[in-house]
Amino acid sequence: MDYETVIGLEIHVELQTEEKIFCSCPTTFGALENSQICPVCRGLPGARPVLNPQVVNFALRLCLATGCRIDPMSRFDRKFYDYPDLPKGYQITQWFQPIGREGSVRLTHQPSRVIRIREIHMEEDTARLTEDPESGGIQIDYNRCGVPLLEIVTQPELSSAEEAIDLITTLREMVLFLGISDGRMEQGSLRVDVNISVRRKGDQTLGVRTEMKNLSSLKAISRAIRHESQRQIKRLQAGKIIRPATRRWDEKRQESRALRSKEMAADYRYDPEPDLPPVHLEAARIEAIRARLPEMASVKRKRYVGQLGIRPEDASLLTSSPALSAQFEALTDQGTAPADAAGWLLGEFLQICRRQGCTPAKITLPPGNLAWIIRQVENGRITRMSGRRTLEAVMADNVDPQDYIEIHQLAIQTDQDQIQRWIDEVLRQYPGALRDYFRGRTKARVFIMGQVMRLSGGRADPALSARLLEQTLASLSDSQRQ
Ligand SMILES: [Zn+2]
Repeated sequence: MDYETVIGLEIHVELQTEEKIFCSCPTTFGALENSQICPVCRGLPGARPVLNPQVVNFALRLCLATGCRIDPMSRFDRKFYDYPDLPKGYQITQWFQPIGREGSVRLTHQPSRVIRIREIHMEEDTARLTEDPESGGIQIDYNRCGVPLLEIVTQPELSSAEEAIDLITTLREMVLFLGISDGRMEQGSLRVDVNISVRRKGDQTLGVRTEMKNLSSLKAISRAIRHESQRQIKRLQAGKIIRPATRRWDEKRQESRALRSKEMAADYRYDPEPDLPPVHLEAARIEAIRARLPEMASVKRKRYVGQLGIRPEDASLLTSSPALSAQFEALTDQGTAPADAAGWLLGEFLQICRRQGCTPAKITLPPGNLAWIIRQVENGRITRMSGRRTLEAVMADNVDPQDYIEIHQLAIQTDQDQIQRWIDEVLRQYPGALRDYFRGRTKARVFIMGQVMRLSGGRADPALSARLLEQTLASLSDSQRQ
């Protein structure tokens, strides 16, 4: 009998606002434990929450980007539960009137698939509980309490681990390009709970679902989905039933363990939050945000390929981060040919980023500088090797590229006598390479040419050097034969 897997996701995204959702404590990740707290986010009696308007604006960006319906009024509610990650005994979330409903997301790798979003709601994050490795006791860091979250709830209509990963990475890309979250799973700013059920192919009703928590990487999510759907299918095939439960994925053991029988939504008590007034969402505010929505990566990719003639795989790489695509667009705005801009950014620029242990987002490179360097190379004023060296200096020390080229005398060398002297010097230094060349190893010529460029400090005119080297080798080979 054939079974199919039905998956729904709850994706929590931490917003990169400077202040928390209901108080003005900072949200900096990695700060000393319990150093960013106040009576409001600690939930002390009598402390009153005040909504940070930036959270609403960020939420509206995502709602608009996913085509959610936005009602004129949204509200907050209290979700009561007893667990030490929330000191006040309830979480402020949205239950009755979330900010967005009935949106959708088109998958990146299977664009024919559109997954419906049931709702997007705003809520506060909870404290981080960790086990003290020495005592085995639980440590609580309240810094994360009150960090703003958006929870994105999909309809249960994903059918495989691949589709689930596709949706998560597509949504992650959206929040990055919207500038509302850094989407870093490894730091917990993007967390995913997965609901899984299986049913016989063709059945209309959903099977009993389990919820998987503690999924901290895409790999873990993918493995957990495969594992859990197999577990459920095996049980059904053996005539057993599936119990609704929350299961914790153990990435080390590659297995899941039941945590507690799943509380049904009705088991939590939800009450309207009395300390926060309703959020009125005027049409003018929504339209102002819509007008300023940045272009999404999927639209950029189409434009790069269709209008700028960039190869699809390069367009994907250029849109792998907002910072990189911003560099690319700034370069083409400055008149750099799109193919040159892509070549330099995906080649030299990313290599230098990696070597300097940096991501494109961390590098402040005035695009005018890179455009100028590329122009010098295209005009034949410096070699590409010198261009790379200049770019490296600009990226490391923010030097002026024009000064750098003058101080280091990087102007291209077209003096035949000088280039000939470099060639003769290299052939003297590497007699072995010359012997290899005469034995027919063409790689030896590439090596000799590389050494000539190196000896010239990257300045030798490559075309002229290649021609002179060719002539020198030809005359040497003639004299050998005689
Ligand atoms: Zn606070």
